[in-house]
Amino acid sequence: MKYIFVTGGVVSSLGKGLTAAALGALLEQRGLRVRLQKFDPYLNVDPGTMSPFQHGEVYVLNDGAETDLDLGHYERFTTGELSRLNNLTSGQVYEKVILKERRGDYLGATVQVIPHVTNEIKDRIYKGTSDDVNVLITELGGTIGDIEGLPFLEAMRQFALEVDREDVLFLHCTLLPYLKAAGELKTKPSQQSVAKLREIGIQPDILVCRTEEPMTDEMREKLSLFCNVPVRAVIEEMDVQTSIYELPLALKAEKVDDLVVEHLKLKAPDSDMQIWHDVVRRLKAPSHEVEIGVVGKYIELQDAYKSVYESIIHAGIANDSAVHIVRLDAEDIEKDPAKYLANLDGILIPGGFGDRGTEGKIAAAKFAREQGIPYFGLCLGMQIAVIEFARHVAGLKDANSTEFNAATEYPVIDIMEDQKDLATKGGNMRLGACPCTLSDDSFSIHAYGQANIEERHRHRYEFNNAFRDQLKKSGLRIAGTNPDRDLVEIIEIAEHPWFVGVQFHPEFKSKPNAAHPLFANFIATALKYK
Ligand code: GLN
Repeated sequence: MKYIFVTGGVVSSLGKGLTAAALGALLEQRGLRVRLQKFDPYLNVDPGTMSPFQHGEVYVLNDGAETDLDLGHYERFTTGELSRLNNLTSGQVYEKVILKERRGDYLGATVQVIPHVTNEIKDRIYKGTSDDVNVLITELGGTIGDIEGLPFLEAMRQFALEVDREDVLFLHCTLLPYLKAAGELKTKPSQQSVAKLREIGIQPDILVCRTEEPMTDEMREKLSLFCNVPVRAVIEEMDVQTSIYELPLALKAEKVDDLVVEHLKLKAPDSDMQIWHDVVRRLKAPSHEVEIGVVGKYIELQDAYKSVYESIIHAGIANDSAVHIVRLDAEDIEKDPAKYLANLDGILIPGGFGDRGTEGKIAAAKFAREQGIPYFGLCLGMQIAVIEFARHVAGLKDANSTEFNAATEYPVIDIMEDQKDLATKGGNMRLGACPCTLSDDSFSIHAYGQANIEERHRHRYEFNNAFRDQLKKSGLRIAGTNPDRDLVEIIEIAEHPWFVGVQFHPEFKSKPNAAHPLFANFIATALKYK
């Protein structure tokens, strides 16, 4: 087993997570089995409770863990399945240590950051992997110099001592700012950030430099000298032109995989990058184009619907089509849906919580249904479609979800009886992978090409089965159900080019070279009816 630790310096938002993921992709192409994990120094026990405003999307794993969105990059770039053991926060570490202390496990010892906290962190490095894995890549969130990151760095330093130094590689991502006035890239912040790392006892083996301008040989030599890294291990990472999916090829061009394989003394055949060349070729020269509206609440934020946007791009790749994503604020749409929606080839409503923008989303679903525009509703987007259908087709006036109106006469979306007890305790989300059986002749079974599927969930409310027959009679198709609890997982409208709402989050299972079948089918239909 070999270990790569990825740290970042100078500024946040360096794309460290993407670099780690792309490195994973590159190593997989050399036949290695890779696993990725993220350490987050904040005190939240998990990112599930953090606002998308601050932290972007919550990425959900098969086992139901609510994790940092970087795990989404990891799963999109590599094939290894991740679990809750692959995302560790300081909050989890301290929770565990304090619990042990309360139980008396430390037998009266003084409980300290070193060794008790660092031991917990090291333990997770061992646990984040399994026997079939060759390389574990662990990314540390935050920036070198942050006080809260120190225990993690200390644990990594100790870890390298504990296993063989040969089995560990430290990769440091840094920024070379370009100073217009001086007309050059600056290396000083990188020097200082590496100096800080070395103060802790970590000498990076590879330095990945984010830069807008190409680096000169002189600059590489300078960074090599001051940062104590061989010249060939000073890596240029230019801003990618078209897409993040160029990154594995960019790292390959800088021979990062050779450095890793040599340093870690791995036996690995040379890489075949065909998959990534194909992805990038299709992204750069698509034959078609299509315009998809995403109607949401956090539309101005880059990262709140990260996996949704990526899945739409993957579906574009699968259909050899460019996809222009039009981000629409649900609150704007309410007054005049046609103004915003009439020219779109498809409308997607992603997941969400809270009632802001709900009526705008209902107006968007209505417009899509009436105008025959392909519609794809994810989680809340499915619930919205049910409410809209109940109100305007089934005649259930003011039908709603009890999330938005607890007193509604027609609670078509509600918390199920067997969950109500939990609901009052606040711990009642349906999380993680659940099975779903698809009905014959549905859009969904056509897309998946099979009747039994498994998808990830993250929601409290469900389609209310008390209204199932009535809505079915009015023309709503129940296209997928949970075989264990008879919950409605997919609704469709048959008399429509493509109208699909899913209670789950398919966006967590799409990859650039393997688009999710529903997303692929949605975009294919949007192209067809354009
Ligand atoms: N707020 C809705 C629920 O809790 C939908 C959640 C979501 O879209 N992830 O059921």
